[in-house]
Amino acid sequence: MISVETALDLILENKLSLKKVAVPFEEAFGRVLAEDLIADRDFPPYDRVTMDGIAIDFTAYLNGTRAFKIQEMQGAGDLQSTLQSPENCIEIMTGGVLPRNTSTVIRYEDLTVENGLATINAEVKPNQNIHTKGQDKKAGDLVLEKGVRLNASHLALAASLGKQKLEVLELPKVAIVSSGDELVEISENPLPHQIRKSNVYAVGALLQKLDVSVEYFHIADDLENSIKKIAELLQNFDVLIFSGGVSMGKKDFIPDALKANRVETIFHKIAQKPGKPMWFGKTAKNLVFALPGNPVSTYLCTIRYVLPFFEKCLGIPKDDFQKVILGESVVFKPKLRYYLQVKIKNEKGALYAFPLEHNGSGDFISLVEADGFVELPNSENELFERGQIVNFFAI
Ligand code: AMP
Ligand code: MG
Repeated sequence: MISVETALDLILENKLSLKKVAVPFEEAFGRVLAEDLIADRDFPPYDRVTMDGIAIDFTAYLNGTRAFKIQEMQGAGDLQSTLQSPENCIEIMTGGVLPRNTSTVIRYEDLTVENGLATINAEVKPNQNIHTKGQDKKAGDLVLEKGVRLNASHLALAASLGKQKLEVLELPKVAIVSSGDELVEISENPLPHQIRKSNVYAVGALLQKLDVSVEYFHIADDLENSIKKIAELLQNFDVLIFSGGVSMGKKDFIPDALKANRVETIFHKIAQKPGKPMWFGKTAKNLVFALPGNPVSTYLCTIRYVLPFFEKCLGIPKDDFQKVILGESVVFKPKLRYYLQVKIKNEKGALYAFPLEHNGSGDFISLVEADGFVELPNSENELFERGQIVNFFAI
């Protein structure tokens, strides 16, 4: 049995081998950029005026001139005009090109404009209110590196570069697979010995905040059938996520069926509760997570292992663990990493986690009350005291 950290290392060292696809700009939000973006021109591309007001030759101001004759008005989008004389000024609007022969801009708030004359009422510095050509980036500079997940500011940048299409990684194809002969579809009326399947939909919902393409499947508790079905899934999907069938039961066939398909076992079992029987393996093309079927186990393993894997592959920035304070002392004896369902209360700005009563890892209804899990470190000590700071994983 391996530790949580070793399990995570063994998972996170893998990459998805995804192809590049070009998508229209409008469909690129949330996708992983697969090309470097280079500035096609300087940013800004010209000396850009940043205030509505007048542009003057600063030497005239230095020589004592305070009232300037308005020569003309140049708006944003107009061709660059030329100051004909240092006694003149040009009225200029935000976003316009700084006129030739001018070197500073004075905003309307610092002027009195009367009878075609602009009089300056404030101190003026050279080059003020000018966003200099190439100040942000120079033509040819790398402005966005491949591997980032495209957000709104990235798209604004891509738009300004005229990228109508962007190269992105194709969406990972993910199969979420339930197993168990007691499970029926949500549309069915279960017989007394049956239940409706729920885990796979929780996993699918947790993956929804990522950009992956998900399909659901079910495998009956039968080795031959599992081997056949898994062979097909390995052909058609990048990542397989199983829920159930990985424990010690006589009908837990998933690990054997995976091995029969030459999926290499990377690990089976993690020193944790819940979710101890978790299995992870790979082929040259696929990654396979096989999560224990108890609903709380499936949920916790998805949050703790599957999501971080996708976040890493998809370039989603990962914050450090969120920390909370144990609001109540907890006694836990087994030498396992313990994930405890908690409710969070904010007490004077500090977040306290209060353990919730529940009926074990089959009690998925208890998750409805929980805000998340806290992670109690493995320890020789069986007592985790109120006030201890612990990692928190939101639901
Ligand atoms: P297993 O890991 O297959 O031994 O399943 C452990 C427990 O989780 C059993 O009580 C199953 O009925 C339950 N279970 C397994 N898969 C699901 C599922 N997809 N939805 C709801 N419960 C499940
Ligand atoms: Mg089962």
